Amino acid sequence: MITVLKPNTTAEQRDHLIHWLEGQDVQVHVSEGAEYTILGLVGDTAHIDMELLESLEIVQSVKRVSEPFKKCNRKFHPEDTVVDAGGVPIGGGHFAVIAGPCSVETRDQIIGIAESVKASGAKLLRGGAFKPRTSPYDFQGLHATGLELLSEAKKETGLPIVSEIMDMRDLDLFQDVDVIQVGARNMQNFELLKGLGHTNKTILLKRGLANTLKELLMSAEYIMAGGNENVILCERGIRTYETYTRNTLDLSCVPVLHELSHLPVVVDPSHATGHSNLVPSMALAAAAAGADGIMVEVHNDPLHALCDGAQSLTPAQFDSLMQQMKRILEVVRP
Ligand code: PEP
Ligand code: MN
Repeated sequence: MITVLKPNTTAEQRDHLIHWLEGQDVQVHVSEGAEYTILGLVGDTAHIDMELLESLEIVQSVKRVSEPFKKCNRKFHPEDTVVDAGGVPIGGGHFAVIAGPCSVETRDQIIGIAESVKASGAKLLRGGAFKPRTSPYDFQGLHATGLELLSEAKKETGLPIVSEIMDMRDLDLFQDVDVIQVGARNMQNFELLKGLGHTNKTILLKRGLANTLKELLMSAEYIMAGGNENVILCERGIRTYETYTRNTLDLSCVPVLHELSHLPVVVDPSHATGHSNLVPSMALAAAAAGADGIMVEVHNDPLHALCDGAQSLTPAQFDSLMQQMKRILEVVRP
């Protein structure tokens, strides 16, 4: 349920109402907009007397929110949320490019890539240290060492870093990580989502291989329900009957998610297509569709990459994508 307060409501009147509502066993989520304050009520609101609430002098309107996702619902927060990703704003008109290798491999590799993607205009550096691989015999990532090397690259370049967590027991290792990624395979690992909901880390939540947008939003809700509202949604392609591409990029999710939610939406064209030659056009299409950012895999030597080389751009290819991106952004975000 949402309660919209009239514009001239004082802080004292607002707090008084919140206190009264909380006394009825619901959580109150406050969203201060430019004009209106919206109180979003989470919990069992069936016993709340809507008519009584509506009749209060400071209340403009009361509406039930039928969707099961509440805190990430745009009805709770009509304005776009701008998430702070290690000092870089994402969402609400702020577009950011996250780039880097699938996996951190060596010191020279990660620092070299960090320097080149920064020079091309990337705002954040990605690099996996804990890799969710289909085969247990494939490279699993450098774990703690990988995160240390990523931190070194951050120190060298000043770029905030993004890396995937697979187990809450590793959280202490992520202290210097600015954005924690929840990968597609863990989108519905509810214990992981709940755990991250109790941190103050920015979370990049990737859509599962076979999950609907509503399920993605419910997973975001798990994180937000714990108090952590710094969530970025990420489309990375879904599994369909098409096998030419690694996955099928569901680009229509960008306007749909923007309609349903106030959270920023980032598109990952690398995992969506699986082929480096397809990445630039899909990255540009994502920006044109209104995405708040893209995440792209870049490797200095894709042929010898330990993971996802086929979909990785070289630094030169990434640079040329960034030149084109500038032109698209001038048109869609003048
Ligand atoms: C990744 O970002 O390297 C990754 C494993 O992504 P996804 O979870 O989307 O497959
Ligand atoms: Mn990858």
